[in-house]
Amino acid sequence: KPIIEFQHVDKYYGKFHALKDINLTINEGEVVSIVGPSGSGKSTLIRTMNGLEGINGGKLIVNGYDLADKKTNINKIRKDVGMVFQHFNLYENHTVLGNIELAPRVVLHRSKKENDEIAMDLLEKVGLENKAHMFPRNLSGGQQQRVAIARSLAMKPKVILFDEPTSALDPEMIQDVLDVMKLVAEQGITMVVVTHEMGFAREVANRLIFFDQGHVLEDRKPEEFFDHP
Ligand code: ADP
Ligand code: ADP
Repeated sequence: KPIIEFQHVDKYYGKFHALKDINLTINEGEVVSIVGPSGSGKSTLIRTMNGLEGINGGKLIVNGYDLADKKTNINKIRKDVGMVFQHFNLYENHTVLGNIELAPRVVLHRSKKENDEIAMDLLEKVGLENKAHMFPRNLSGGQQQRVAIARSLAMKPKVILFDEPTSALDPEMIQDVLDVMKLVAEQGITMVVVTHEMGFAREVANRLIFFDQGHVLEDRKPEEFFDHP
């Protein structure tokens, strides 16, 4: 069942044609890895999926909402489509627990009791239950990124977009974050992941997209790339 559908989508930055006639359908539960050269438009592509970047032509349907329609309320999409950034983007003046509970409280009006239960359960899943009352600045990059993933999961989204989630991390922290992403994949949440980590593409993703110069160059099952040289 399709959850993200691009039909002839174009995106310009001024005169620069960043996304060229994108036709792409992502189904519920798919784990899609997007790889390609720097500057090819990977980040732009996934940022259009939750309205962080607008599009200039074509049709883009996400979770039933038409993103090309100016009347579409972007907040309705963001509720179900989470995003994890390269540089974590945690709220620095909130604790770890505060970061995870903020959006569910404000957007979903989740009670404090339920919020605490869900947040602590997520912190346990990402291995940070003893960091609940710490502030982001006192955590390592890998720990901050695991909090960012827990924060995203707390909204119980249908889709999580990952924009180079391990690129800003020291090498020894990457695996912990990839392990958490694998856990997310096993929950059946749709994931679209821009990453240079080919191990993730090979072991976790069920679809691998090569992006180049603003368009999809290849779109295959990972085993078709890795097992048939
Ligand atoms: P990638 O994620 O593959 O590295 P990006 O989507 O970040 O690629 O960028 C694609 C192209 O669009 C690059 O040439 C980049 O310089 C340009 N670009 C990205 N964001 C903007 C922006 N806000 N304004 C102008 N050009 C941009
Ligand atoms: P922190 O200071 O831990 O980072 P916040 O600044 O986000 O946390 O503030 C959370 C405060 O809001 C807490 O004092 C908490 O008791 C209160 N609160 C009230 N309702 C809720 C709720 N539904 N979910 C979470 N916290 C709530």
